[in-house]
Amino acid sequence: MDWKAKSDRYDHMLYNRCGKSGLSLPAISLGLWHNFGDDTAHSKKVDICTTAFDLGINHFDLANNYGPPPGSAELAFGRILKEQFAGLRDELIISSKAGYLMWPGPYGEWGSRKYVIASCDQSLKRMGVDYVDIFYSHRFDPNTPLEETMMALDQIVRSGKALYVGISSYNSQRTKEAYDILKSLETPFIIHQPSYSMLNRWVESDGLLDTLDNLGLGSIVFSPLAQGMLTNKYLNKVPADSRASQDKSLSKEFLSEDNLKNIWALNEIASSRGQTLAQMAISWVLKNKSVTSALIGASRPEQVIDCVGALKNLEFSEQELHQIDQYAKD
Ligand code: NDP
Repeated sequence: MDWKAKSDRYDHMLYNRCGKSGLSLPAISLGLWHNFGDDTAHSKKVDICTTAFDLGINHFDLANNYGPPPGSAELAFGRILKEQFAGLRDELIISSKAGYLMWPGPYGEWGSRKYVIASCDQSLKRMGVDYVDIFYSHRFDPNTPLEETMMALDQIVRSGKALYVGISSYNSQRTKEAYDILKSLETPFIIHQPSYSMLNRWVESDGLLDTLDNLGLGSIVFSPLAQGMLTNKYLNKVPADSRASQDKSLSKEFLSEDNLKNIWALNEIASSRGQTLAQMAISWVLKNKSVTSALIGASRPEQVIDCVGALKNLEFSEQELHQIDQYAKD
């Protein structure tokens, strides 16, 4: 497929420093959890990634298990790296993770050194790269000493397989513990990846955002559109090609009457700001100073274009925030 990166690709995006590190990330990053498995045409994956890159989204977020089947998103992205993004590796931030089920037996998931290091090696092979920019522990493992998981991340950096490390979905307390261990090891731990959106505010009640701020860590918040609920797509019906209709990770039960009422009200507020609901949802997470990047997903390039439009209006008045709080509920 013929594609050449646009020369004005850095003119549309805002780049935020990730905590106190030297790394800047685009305010909007693209995740390959859905729509990059074997059930999606490769040409569509190429269109989504190249559209994103042309808009300055140079950070692509993966994990060992993204697909279906697990591993296929990394394989597809490896092909895009080779065919479209050849020569662009130094402009890209590629992340991957280990934590969820990848292979049978006791070493195929969670946080043991055995699993985490093997999984990272597999991810590099699938993508055809020597290193990833960020490697994450995808979830806290209650049955493995935290020191062991963190030492595995440290070794991944020291063996040249990742430049930085992160943790995902760890609560505030576990984050502080992980920070202390990684600090003592002098591991470049710079980022947390939690879920956060107007419909999912656990990071506020848990104190995680304040913790990240205090520790000088950045964050990349996943599912800022609540998997599509914070867009205009479910306002009137459940479209046939949407995530909710395909029984993927978004259950139709989330689209309860109460939730839909809130979504309608938020859509009204977005309109009054001259934004689509998706755009306001992204601006809303980015207003927090410990949020470095909003990590979106997309099933088509037009959605990426719409989302990047959020950057045109990142300011909220006190009155707007107050109004939003009445409807932005878990
Ligand atoms: P979002 O909340 O951004 O949801 C993405 C979905 O919203 C799209 O697939 C699409 O739905 C819809 N959408 C996106 N833009 C628009 C638009 N402009 N207008 C209308 N609809 C739109 O994020 P995801 O839930 O996809 O998660 C994003 C990424 O976060 C993942 O790819 C992954 O990298 C990461 N993640 C990390 C997790 C972790 O444990 N660390 C867990 C989950 C995600 P549709 O497909 O129906 O068209």
